[in-house]
Amino acid sequence: MPQTPTTFPAPPRARKRLFIGLITGSSVLVCLVLVGLWVVPVVGLGAIHPLAPWLLGALVLSAILALSWASLALVLNILLGRPVLGGKRLRGVTVRVFLPLMTMLGRVLGIPPQDVQSSFIRVNNELVSAEGLRVPAERILVLVPHCLQQSRCPQRLTYDVDHCRRCGLCDIGELLKLRDALGLRLAVATGGTIARRIVVENRPQLIIAVACERDLAHGIQDTFPIPVFGILNQRPHGPCRDTRVVLEEVRAAVERFVAGKSA
Ligand code: SF4
Repeated sequence: MPQTPTTFPAPPRARKRLFIGLITGSSVLVCLVLVGLWVVPVVGLGAIHPLAPWLLGALVLSAILALSWASLALVLNILLGRPVLGGKRLRGVTVRVFLPLMTMLGRVLGIPPQDVQSSFIRVNNELVSAEGLRVPAERILVLVPHCLQQSRCPQRLTYDVDHCRRCGLCDIGELLKLRDALGLRLAVATGGTIARRIVVENRPQLIIAVACERDLAHGIQDTFPIPVFGILNQRPHGPCRDTRVVLEEVRAAVERFVAGKSA
């Protein structure tokens, strides 16, 4: 019997406070390390040249200011919902610097990686939204995981999603209808390598990715600087099997970014 689309409740919202707490904690830790890097060699540097300790101090101070600026701008961006203090560059800093730091700090504090990733995905989505992108529909790639396909379905979708017969047993058929109605691109990936290949071949301006917390967080990092808007999948049968997606979330994400539609 065909499945009814969009019947699952949206997953619980990740808490922004966790992200803000981890960002602030990570920044303070790095600043302390940087201060330590300055203080320790100063005793010896003075012997090389009287100005050497101050030059190193200036470098460390610059790094501290840059990091403090980035974390303050990021927190303001999250709280205000719009880019501030050069906020458009923040997505890069978040993906490249803060996520690894937050993951490390979260591990030390015993926070489950899934919680950190979920929080990161939500903030990433807000940063991508705050950029105010408007993209032609054909340059938007909706990338979904293989586990969204019904596990007993014999169709091979990885190389051509149009092999789907739209029988209604999983959400792929509905996603194809959405693709056709809006003129998007849709692809199914069986893993990170295939996903990267799909991205290289399609050269999208924006990716709307559906996956679990871990795959979304890794995907956002892997495909940077291409903006990725992440949507968590639903796992009524546990991970990696017969997963679902709330189609209205995909539609709303597309309509937020597609050129010619208002936010
Ligand atoms: S992938 Fe297509 S053909 Fe296969 S179960 Fe899902 S809707 Fe049916």
